[in-house]
Amino acid sequence: MHASLVVSGLNKVYEGSGRRVEAVRDLTFTVEAGELVCLVGPSGCGKTTLLKCMGGLLTPTAGEVRLNDRPVRPPGMAFVFQEYGRSLFPWMRVRENVELPLKQKPLSKVRRRELVTDALESVGLTDAAGAYPWQLSGGMQQRVAIARALAYEPDVLLMDEPFAAVDAQTRADLEDLVRGLWRERGITILFVTHDIDEAVYLGERVLILSASPTVVQEQLKVDLPDERDQLHTRVAPRFAELRTHVYEQIQAAKRGGTDTGPPEKTLT
Ligand code: ADP
Ligand code: MG
Repeated sequence: MHASLVVSGLNKVYEGSGRRVEAVRDLTFTVEAGELVCLVGPSGCGKTTLLKCMGGLLTPTAGEVRLNDRPVRPPGMAFVFQEYGRSLFPWMRVRENVELPLKQKPLSKVRRRELVTDALESVGLTDAAGAYPWQLSGGMQQRVAIARALAYEPDVLLMDEPFAAVDAQTRADLEDLVRGLWRERGITILFVTHDIDEAVYLGERVLILSASPTVVQEQLKVDLPDERDQLHTRVAPRFAELRTHVYEQIQAAKRGGTDTGPPEKTLT
């Protein structure tokens, strides 16, 4: 398999107004093409900083991000942020919001329309194409944001706690939407969350980050079946074991240790 996304020795220090914050100390990991990887870590540990460095929105202090063996350039990635309300333009219809980033690409008008129609269909919003974002529920607005990212056909989709602000039922639906899209389209997804259950439910792999200054505390393979559903997966014994393990690692991370724990806690 070709390594798609390689982060090596990434360090980010924020400097300004006499303050110096080392947000990310040293992050090294790889995301393979077509993988769905979840990143989980305590609040303030530098998850957003990392994604911004990966997407080219911030320049790392040291280290680098390579995509298909080349330094990353902004158009390779698409973002879905938590604040969907602020990421959509209220004066544009749903269709126009999804189409907007495509205008930066050398595409014909016909092709653009095709991509928009296809993306809206994928997220179940065909009927809402002519609506304005403010006419839609929070969950639907987040679907628009996902459609916009999909239509762009990025090499990697970066999602930063995208469902943190929606209610539990909507969140479950959106999680299944992401898994469905990933399986249908074979896209590479890096999904950041502070929610352990969400990370285990969604990911093929979970990267556990330490508290800031951040390093990768552990990489855990999620050996649950590919067919997952909210009802059965979340009550499976293996799901409980995995989430407990991640929870313990995050608690250890918060204490600031690289606590490997007693051997019986270590999953094989
Ligand atoms: P997370 O997304 O995991 O909650 P962030 O990446 O937002 O974490 O922040 C990581 C650390 O960097 C925090 O300590 C935060 O206060 C700090 N930080 C984030 N952005 C800036 C900034 N623009 N200037 C200074 N410090 C920042
Ligand atoms: Mg964040």
